[in-house]
Amino acid sequence: MRCPKCPGAMEVKTYGRKITVHRCDECGGLFCKPDVLLEMKREWMSEIVLDSGDAKVGEVHNELGDINCPECGILMDKTYDPQQTHIWLESCSQCEGIYFDAGEFSDLKYDTFMDRIRDFLKGARPGV
Ligand SMILES: [Zn+2]
Ligand SMILES: [Zn+2]
Repeated sequence: MRCPKCPGAMEVKTYGRKITVHRCDECGGLFCKPDVLLEMKREWMSEIVLDSGDAKVGEVHNELGDINCPECGILMDKTYDPQQTHIWLESCSQCEGIYFDAGEFSDLKYDTFMDRIRDFLKGARPGV
């Protein structure tokens, strides 16, 4: 599987028994399904193990919105997390896959006071 945001390859990473994601070996982007995402949110330390990419690279990649699903090849929808609107994601309408830039899952897992500030400053994704 190719990374939709860089020339890297998406490698299979597992954590525990229930979590299987694809992670780019170059930029650290993550691709997973919604049910796996729920497990990732529940699992202690999952963000340390799985979201190990450089958040600075993720921030640059966050601006790249028009990407194709690494699984289906169709254009992914631009979306954002309903609780933390500064977290911009891409989701696939066909396979329901979600693409996170490096650092985004760690951000998503913990809804902190600083996140509220970021929501306020950055706001929801335009045009979504
Ligand atoms: Zn990549
Ligand atoms: Zn897909």
